[in-house]
Amino acid sequence: MKAYRFVAYQEPPRFEDVAVPEPGPGQVLVKIGGAGVCHSDLHVLEWPAEQNPLRPPFTLGHENAGWVERVGPGVEAFRHGDPVAVYGSWGCGACRTCRQGMENYCERQAEIPAMGGGLGLDGGMAEYMLVPSSRLLVPLRSLDPRDAAPLTDAGLTPYHAVKRSLGLLGPGATAAVVGVGGLGQMGVQILRALTAARIIAVDKDEEKLRLAKEMGADGVVRAGEGAAEEIRQATRGRGVEVVVDFVGADATLALAAKIARPQGHVTLVGLAGGTFPFGFFALPYECSLASTYWGSITELMEVIALAEQGRIDLHVERFPLDRAPDAYQRLRAGTVRGRAVIVPHG
Ligand code: NAD
Ligand code: ZN
Ligand code: ZN
Repeated sequence: MKAYRFVAYQEPPRFEDVAVPEPGPGQVLVKIGGAGVCHSDLHVLEWPAEQNPLRPPFTLGHENAGWVERVGPGVEAFRHGDPVAVYGSWGCGACRTCRQGMENYCERQAEIPAMGGGLGLDGGMAEYMLVPSSRLLVPLRSLDPRDAAPLTDAGLTPYHAVKRSLGLLGPGATAAVVGVGGLGQMGVQILRALTAARIIAVDKDEEKLRLAKEMGADGVVRAGEGAAEEIRQATRGRGVEVVVDFVGADATLALAAKIARPQGHVTLVGLAGGTFPFGFFALPYECSLASTYWGSITELMEVIALAEQGRIDLHVERFPLDRAPDAYQRLRAGTVRGRAVIVPHG
């Protein structure tokens, strides 16, 4: 089968012919419905070898959903044709955090050579993908896998990031979402679905701000010089309880520090590589700064439930497999509306 693969550091991905894998004991072969195009892939493709946690070659696509094609010996919970979402962060499956469903924070991650399918192992930008254990599959019931694929990352990552701050987001609170692309647009909808907070979206792109408004943002602010002042004024000088930064550049971290209020949360999700010099006066008192990586398997089930109820809905733009290079080009140019999804079977 044809697969779109990361073959060498700092080189464009290439189409290669690879064998359809055969599921071994406990494993499942998934027929890919959709494989989402995530900005993290652009970072991975650009990072030099010495700073890159992943070793090529492997098939791209870490945001996947599809249908069970074949199960290996011993798999009882799934059968041919079942629509499934693939939980993307593959841990050891046996440590304490993995047993709690948080394979994203596996205690033995350092011993595992890859982070998941499409992140060191073969992912979903091909007709089929091998999932190493049925524990990593979540049933989809009513959702079309081609539309559901982004829930596994663009949905799950903001869901986990927002959940850590739910206690701060009661009536009267404000949350700022910085960077409203694939993840940020879901972040806005998840805040809307789970909290009573007022939502302010920040982006450098006017079109993205317009979309954020459509998705439930109460206010929008163009990134740049006056952004911090505008947000402080909108909160009568108090600042916001929560900032979720889906960019992670020096400028967005600096903005977060200026607009957060005492005892607030600044949550860093974006991998742009920015840094923030921490010191006594760098952040408002008791403001906490944390990075988050992906989310847990049970949180993925919750995200899927929200989508089934129609409370979150990401716009998906479908691309056939042979147009994967265009999809990445469009993401790099910032012209994808919602999420680009590769659909190898149409
Ligand atoms: P995207 O390209 O769809 O969206 C990025 C958005 O940020 C765009 O709307 C862009 O206009 C905006 N933006 C860029 N620079 C900006 C700036 N300086 N100020 C304000 N807005 C700016 O990307 P995505 O797929 O949504 O991913 C977002 C980030 O999250 C990426 O860095 C990605 O690697 C990262 N990510 C992290 C995790 C995690 O677990 N921590 C998971 C998935 C993705
Ligand atoms: Zn991703
Ligand atoms: Zn583990």
